Amino acid sequence: MDAACVRHWLEVAAARIEAERNYLTQLDAAIGDADHGTNMHRGFNAVLARMSALDGATPGQLLIQAGRTFVSIVGGAAGPLYGTAFVQAGQALGDGEAFGPKRLVEAIRASLEGVQRVGAAVDGDKTMVDALTRGLSAFEDGLRNGTLEAAVRAARAAAMEGMRATIPLQARKGRASYLGPRSVGHQDPGATSTALLFAAMEDAVLAQRSQRLAAGPTGRLGDLHEP
Ligand code: ADP
Ligand code: MG
Repeated sequence: MDAACVRHWLEVAAARIEAERNYLTQLDAAIGDADHGTNMHRGFNAVLARMSALDGATPGQLLIQAGRTFVSIVGGAAGPLYGTAFVQAGQALGDGEAFGPKRLVEAIRASLEGVQRVGAAVDGDKTMVDALTRGLSAFEDGLRNGTLEAAVRAARAAAMEGMRATIPLQARKGRASYLGPRSVGHQDPGATSTALLFAAMEDAVLAQRSQRLAAGPTGRLGDLHEP
């Protein structure tokens, strides 16, 4: 995977967030202050605008800049949390032009650790951590047993499971925790946006793969001639 893949991920993520902006805000209206869709949409718009000025940036630099943009543009809990997640992921990718699946695992793990350092939430607190934890472990398991494509598919499915699993929980972190038992029965907005980001990751990886296939036999012949 390379910088084009990261850009594609950010673009697809932005499009998915835009498509679900009202839904995310409705979810936040039930247990928060009805701004999660607006927050995420504003953040991703700013990230896309920033990306156009970053020609030649490495994958790590792109994510670090996306994170800084998020922190400076998006208020509330989600801004610093996602901002930290993106910066940490970018740092974990290092300064190479390309990265492999193992680096991607490290980047997602660094995101989770960043979110937990800032927000102190654990799995089951009814936050974005619930989707992120499950997405990460399904991705790792998937890579151990199969292809990158299968692993991103499993990660997306697991993140969505984590998202749905927030419904019966009582919130223990963030604004929703002020509601106490009244937060039960509602899906967490941040877990929902995190699941959308995993869906975008699947899209970006599959797009990269189909480009490789479209490049056709030249690439495969090239491989044959490698020492
Ligand atoms: P705010 O709650 O400040 O209005 P948003 O509505 O944009 O911010 O984001 C709310 C989401 O942030 C929640 O649904 C939850 O997933 C996530 N969140 C809130 N607090 C924490 C925390 N301490 N750790 C992890 N995620 C959190
Ligand atoms: Mg909110």
